[in-house]
Amino acid sequence: MATLAEPMRAQLPVVGSAHPFLVTRVFCVGRNYAAHAREMGADVREPPFFFMKPSVAVVDASRPTSISYPPKTNDLQHEVELVVAIGTGGRDLDPARALEHVYGYAIGLDMTRRDLQRHAKDKGQPWEFAKSFLGSAPIGAIHKVSEVGHLREGAISLSVNGQVRQSSNLSQMTWSVAECLAQLSAYDALLPGDLLMTGTPEGVGKVVRGDVMRGQIAGLADLAVAIAP
Ligand code: MN
Repeated sequence: MATLAEPMRAQLPVVGSAHPFLVTRVFCVGRNYAAHAREMGADVREPPFFFMKPSVAVVDASRPTSISYPPKTNDLQHEVELVVAIGTGGRDLDPARALEHVYGYAIGLDMTRRDLQRHAKDKGQPWEFAKSFLGSAPIGAIHKVSEVGHLREGAISLSVNGQVRQSSNLSQMTWSVAECLAQLSAYDALLPGDLLMTGTPEGVGKVVRGDVMRGQIAGLADLAVAIAP
């Protein structure tokens, strides 16, 4: 008979703190940059929508790391995103006060099995397995708001093997962090330890085994994630 091994709990280091950030849930915003919404064939004026990844999909990418190429895909794609770390929970947040619930920020990758996502969209099926596999959320160290302030603008970019693929500015987000938190918290209460991946700019694309992705957001430490050979 099987015995119960120690359950896994994802955690991320916090810059300047000995205490890690324990991850509760991972929420993600779909299509939050107009140019990316257009490249995905969507209406840029749609309100934000949300999906989730399991917390164990988070990979600590505070140092250069690698992830395995996931099964059942031939089109693994990168999406570089600003990640918001929730410190205090709440529901129905007022957009004017929503940022008071933010503990810090990080850079992350919403890795996506795009072929599975396209298939699911075509069939009207859930996207879940396109987005929620183990290793699908490499995230850098959390930078506390008390250290870096709130990130409303600044360059966001991703290169693969030294070649720039995604390059935009946080100011191009259709819905601000505060607006996203307000809308998300109307659907479900936010809890301490929740993460919100705030959507990706245009330029998403395919990666293969051996590729090295480098993500940058002004004010945060860089992210370096390789796809294992
Ligand atoms: Mn995304």
